[in-house]
Amino acid sequence: MHVIPMPDSHKPLGSWLRAHGFALRLLGCGTVVALTTGIAGTIYEGNLFWVANGVLLSYLLLAPRRRWPAYLGAALVGHALGTACIHTAWQVYVIDMPLDLSEALLSAFLLRRRSAQLPQFTNRTYLFRFFFIAVLASPLACAFSYALVESLWLHSIFSTSLSQWFTSDALGVCITTPACVAIFRTRIKNFLGTGWKLSYPLLLAAATCVIFSQAQAPLSFLLYPLLILILFRLGLGWAAASTTFIAAVGGWFTVHDFGPFASYHALSLLEPAFILQIFVATTMLTIYGVSVVLEDLDATQRRLHEALAKYQLVTENSRDVLIIADFSGHRTFVSSGCANWSGWNAKELLQHRSLEMAHPEDRPKIQAALQELRNGKDGALIEYRAQTREGDYIWIESSLRTIRNTVTNIPEGILSSVREITERKLAEQQLQNAYHALESLAITDALTGLANRRQFDQTLATEWRRGMRDSKPLSMLLIDVDLFKTYNDSYGHLRGDSCLKQIAEAALAAVARPSDIVARFGGEEFAVILPNTAGNGAIQLARDICAIMRSRHIVHDSNPIGIVTVSVGCATLVPKFGLQAASIIEQADKALYQAKRSGRNRACAYRTEENAGAPAGKIELTDNPPAFKNNHGY
Ligand code: GH3
Ligand code: MG
Ligand code: MG
Repeated sequence: MHVIPMPDSHKPLGSWLRAHGFALRLLGCGTVVALTTGIAGTIYEGNLFWVANGVLLSYLLLAPRRRWPAYLGAALVGHALGTACIHTAWQVYVIDMPLDLSEALLSAFLLRRRSAQLPQFTNRTYLFRFFFIAVLASPLACAFSYALVESLWLHSIFSTSLSQWFTSDALGVCITTPACVAIFRTRIKNFLGTGWKLSYPLLLAAATCVIFSQAQAPLSFLLYPLLILILFRLGLGWAAASTTFIAAVGGWFTVHDFGPFASYHALSLLEPAFILQIFVATTMLTIYGVSVVLEDLDATQRRLHEALAKYQLVTENSRDVLIIADFSGHRTFVSSGCANWSGWNAKELLQHRSLEMAHPEDRPKIQAALQELRNGKDGALIEYRAQTREGDYIWIESSLRTIRNTVTNIPEGILSSVREITERKLAEQQLQNAYHALESLAITDALTGLANRRQFDQTLATEWRRGMRDSKPLSMLLIDVDLFKTYNDSYGHLRGDSCLKQIAEAALAAVARPSDIVARFGGEEFAVILPNTAGNGAIQLARDICAIMRSRHIVHDSNPIGIVTVSVGCATLVPKFGLQAASIIEQADKALYQAKRSGRNRACAYRTEENAGAPAGKIELTDNPPAFKNNHGY
């Protein structure tokens, strides 16, 4: 069913009220001032609670400043009518009226520094300002002026006039203004919306009438819980209005010698009316105090709601998943972003413990990080594999922070911010592979797959230092293919290259220790570095290489023995401070030269006095070609 909104022309009362709102408010102001002046004057001779100023002040606090003169005019007329009803002497009217209007105007002027500033009685600062300006300062200033003029002109007692004006005006403003402001600002719709809660003020009204109409049961204190209930359920405006009602009814009964306070007349030094004033004043102070505390609580609650909304906005829209867990791995909070990449929803993740989903290989790493946090470290960043709902593993990065007890500062849990990094990890792996490939290309000889000259130089430097540190012998073999130039000439460079590969294989086959390294030293020259190897072992290896090459029977017609052979120069040194690593190459080269000169297809060692008892600097032929028969007759 569609509800067709009624155009404004169909609501004549509403539009008429809107069009004449200001005039109606002026009329209301004048009428209420007249009534309150008349009633207060009639009931308590204006001495108990002077509420007309509080009414005018509430109009001024809600109206724009430019309209204040109109409200003051309306109040002036109302005041005149009210005073006329109670037949006050014209002298009193002449003194009262300007002072009453000035008091309200002064309070409004000081309270409303900016025209747009509206009264907020639930705000602590505003309430204090209201109290000091409208309840204390302005009534005191006017009471002083009133007492001065009256004592000079009408010969009244200064202190009596001062205290009467001040107490009745201060109390009147104190109870009326917040109530009127709340009532004037309440929309009829909202008023009706209060519904059954209106039973509280009605209950209070009935209780007030009962309590003040008799003196047998002095139960005025019962009004406090009712007022607090009204304050909690309906707000400060209703509580102040209820207090105004108590003041009016209580005042009427008290001045007519009824009720609990009137019965004190015979017992107390204090006037019953004054006791009622104290009662009303303490009631209002209690209401103001509780209202400020309530407002503080409301403000805290609002801030909490705002913070909660922000926090939910952040956690629900964050790509990272936030997890709070204690040190034993029990999770107490999981934000909702996890479903995107893990397949688990927040509720399922809450039931898992922290380590359960981690890859078994990664668990020690996570446990170590947790232990560090438990020992006092504030944060950690770990990468590990976590299982998805489908059972696959994905890489995640978890930034861990310790949660400390806000009072004791003792670590009591962990906040982890978790994000998926599988793609990043994959890219890193690819980069790593590419780097390793590049690195290995940079140190590998393309033809033979052996270490290249660069890696040879690096390894020699490293082993030289190690040998020096450990005082262990370092040996080197330099291998050169015999008459290789002629091999190339006869069989071409491609076969030459394939021959070089076979020589590389032969050298590799000969070395046994993982620390030994075979490198391509130059064109058809190879080098073997043998860490922690003495001369005897080295020459034996050199012989083995020669033998393996011969055993391969690679035909080489230009070689007198008809097959490809190699010559090997061998050197052994214990690296020492002052010796260069290059010296071992030089010695191996000299030994190689010796092997070539002595007929090739053999290994020669560079023996010094130091390493083999040979005369210093002498090269000793240590290996004759073995008796070897081939189809060339050798
Ligand atoms: P020697 O027995 O005295 O060593 O005689 P040789 O002919 O082997 O002389 P040398 O050691 O000076 O030989 C160098 C030759 O090695 C030159 C070149 O033809 C050949 N060579 C160097 N590098 C390569 C290479 O990468 N591939 C091929 N196929 N041949 C190479
Ligand atoms: Mg050579
Ligand atoms: Mg050669």
